[in-house]
Amino acid sequence: MPELPEVETTVRGLARVLDGARIARVAVNRPDLRRPFPPDLVQALTGARVTGLDRRAKYGLIHTDRDSTMIFHLGMSGRWRIEPEQIEKHDHLVLETDAGHVLALNDARRFGSVDLVQTAALDIWPAFAAMGPEPLGDGLTAKHLAKAFAGRSAPIKQLLLDQAIVAGLGNIYVCEALFRAGIRPDKAAGQVSRPALGRLVPAIRTVLAESIAAGGSTIRDYAQPSGELGYFATAWQVYGREGESCGCGQSVRRFVQGGRSTFWCAKCQK
Ligand SMILES: [Zn+2]
Repeated sequence: MPELPEVETTVRGLARVLDGARIARVAVNRPDLRRPFPPDLVQALTGARVTGLDRRAKYGLIHTDRDSTMIFHLGMSGRWRIEPEQIEKHDHLVLETDAGHVLALNDARRFGSVDLVQTAALDIWPAFAAMGPEPLGDGLTAKHLAKAFAGRSAPIKQLLLDQAIVAGLGNIYVCEALFRAGIRPDKAAGQVSRPALGRLVPAIRTVLAESIAAGGSTIRDYAQPSGELGYFATAWQVYGREGESCGCGQSVRRFVQGGRSTFWCAKCQK
């Protein structure tokens, strides 16, 4: 499943081809993904110039000079294919720029989505209005976390996965960031010390930044005919390493928390 770093890498890869380009042709090859494509999508994008691309949490944003923004979510299996050799069965949305670049949104399982929103109204788009600060932005601070966690007895890991507290953090990144910050994943959020929260914020940023850097190779590949954006592997310190040595002499442990696996080290995390 594409996480925030994959979406960031995808947006950067798309920007190389799309930023400043005029969209000459738009093809919608089926009526829906997770929900129907916007009925006015083809009309809104055809002939529009792309004025910039952004990411918010796990959503990619393509802004146009018509004051509207196309928002995509990759769901479980979505990916953009740049300059595909041929259009395939699961290429549900295809854009062609006036320079002849072709971009296909491929989503075999169709848990992804495409929306069209007035650019001026992005902040009040329902999914965005309810979101907490971006983990890589200035809004994520130890102070913000201390306020959000105050008096909360829920485990810190659960609250870090709450999009209203921090936007776009997935299970892997929360496990890794808590390990680096030396915080037990099952610790009551309200009991985590301010110095520990001070370690957690840079730990979150570092884990995400390293993963985005690892995705740089997929950007470099974009110009190849087979170029696909969206997925890459990173070497994790605890995630997926149950029973392996942590490096401190203890083994990495796993338990299920809120239906998801948590990996951690009982010696390094207090
Ligand atoms: Zn350890």
